[in-house]
This record gives sequence, C-alpha cells and structure tokens, in this order.
Amino acid sequence: MARRHDRPSTEPYATEPYEAGPYASGAYAGGPYAGQSVRPAIELRGVRRTYGRGGETVHALRGIDLALGHGSFTAVMGPSGSGKSTFLQCAAGLDKPDQGEIRLGDEDITRLSENRLTKLRRSRIGFIFQSFNLLPSLTVEQNVLLPQRLAGERQDRARARELLAQVGLGEHAKRRPGQLSGGQQQRVAIARALITSPDVVFADEPTGALDTTTAHEVLGLLRRAVDDLGATVVMVTHDPVAASFADRVLFLAGGAIVDELHHPEPQAVADRMVRLTARPVRVAA
Ligand code: ADP
Repeated sequence: MARRHDRPSTEPYATEPYEAGPYASGAYAGGPYAGQSVRPAIELRGVRRTYGRGGETVHALRGIDLALGHGSFTAVMGPSGSGKSTFLQCAAGLDKPDQGEIRLGDEDITRLSENRLTKLRRSRIGFIFQSFNLLPSLTVEQNVLLPQRLAGERQDRARARELLAQVGLGEHAKRRPGQLSGGQQQRVAIARALITSPDVVFADEPTGALDTTTAHEVLGLLRRAVDDLGATVVMVTHDPVAASFADRVLFLAGGAIVDELHHPEPQAVADRMVRLTARPVRVAA
C-alpha cells in the first residue's frame, strides 16, 4: 500500500505522465451487460501476474476476466495485498501481465511496444492520484493542458477553461497549485485527467488525502464526469462511502475478483469488506 503512494509525486508527469488507477464501466461477463455488442472501454481476459522467482511465487493476479463499458463508474476494493495495485498497473499498461490480454477499445495493449504504450497512455488514459501530482511551477491551466502537451497534441485552452469551470475553478486558471486547497487541487487533477477525453480514467485513492466534506465534492465531480461527460472511471478505494458513488464495486481477494455489488450502499460495501478481511479465529489447543 505504502509502496504505491511512496513514488515521487511529480515523477509520473515528469517522465511518464501517468500512473495506474482503477477503471469504470459496463459489460461484464455473466452480468447485466452480458451479450452487449458494443465494445467495452476496457477488457481484461485471463489476466495473470506473478512475482518472484525460484521457490517463492506470488500470484498477484490469478486470472481476471472483466469488461467495463463506456460511461461507467467502477470501484475496486480489497484487503491489503489482494492485487489492487497490480490490477491498476496492468490495466493502465504500466505493467505487463504474464498471461492474458488487455484491450483498450479495439487495441490489445499487451502486444504494444513500450514506445506505443507510452503514447497511448498519454492520450487515451487519464490518472488521478491520492497526492494530486500537480506540477507546482505550472499554473492550474498549464497543469490541465499538460497531457495534451506531453502527447504532442494541440493544447486546447478553451476546453481546459471549460473543464475548469465544470469543476468549479473557472476563476483559478492562472493560480499555482500551491495557492489552492487540497480539494481544489484534486479538482484540477480531475480536469487534467479529462482533457484528452481518455477511454478510461484511473483514480487511485483519489479522496485518501481529503476531509469528508471535500471528499464528497470530489466524488460528486467524478460521478458527474461519468453521467454528464460520458467518462469511464475506475477507482481504487478503501472507503465504502467513496465506493458507493460508483455504479458497482468489484472486490478483489488473493488476486481474483471474488464478489461484486451493483448500486452499492456504503453499509453493504462495508459488510462485504469485513467478510473479506475477517480472519479465522484460532482456538487454543
Ligand atoms: P494491493 O494493492 O491490494 O495491496 P498489490 O497488487 O500491491 O496488492 O500486491 C498483490 C500481491 O503481490 C501481494 O502479495 C504483494 O506482496 C505482491 N507484490 C506486489 N508487487 C510486488 C513486487 N514488485 N514483487 C514481489 N511481489 C509483489
């Protein structure tokens, strides 16, 4: 857990614009979208990832099959070590699975070269981090435009202004991140994640550093990005209330999806998590 958030905050945007996050949206084998003909935003088929060599092998992902439709909001939860980070890293093309296939739209990203993958991540994937990861020397507007700049695309200032207005920061475009509150900085990060109209936005504990009220505002904005802008969001979170903003929650344990909840209520999510983390009681001999 700490490992994931210990990375230098500016590193992903300095060299490698984004990091992994969760996913959102639709078609799920056997679920309500089964048989849907529209291509999902992202699809994982038989994805396995193991770590280690020699005697000790860790099965971080044990065969993930998942299809997330466009315009959906999915939360990913699970105990520590259940594979959430590995899932995000693989789904965002930052790590390669040992087996299986990951498709972003029509593209099998597991077959792409590092070069192509880097380009694809810059333009087709958005990332939101717990620690915001804004570049302090750039203005708010320049931060929002950064993904387009890194992707070598035309920087669309009108769209940046529009997105900033949508997240309630229309008046703050010329400020620096250091002049904003944590919640405002995360709203800038949401605008930044949406600027390229990516296929999927991954949010990694996006409210982990925020107080409850501010967290609700940020989650409401993510919800609106899905409902009003048609964004596809995948969010890893530990917080049942945050998860309840999603359309459904996937529960990981031991590298597999072991459960899911649609239209999640916070209490139901919390109850499932308790079940997943509950350890068998040892009875003394
Ligand atoms: P989570 O994000 O749910 O805490 P992770 O995806 O970080 O889970 O880890 C899943 C499993 O894979 C854990 O057992 C973890 O110790 C192991 N793991 C993750 N990264 C590595 C690595 N780089 N080398 C060896 N084992 C790893």
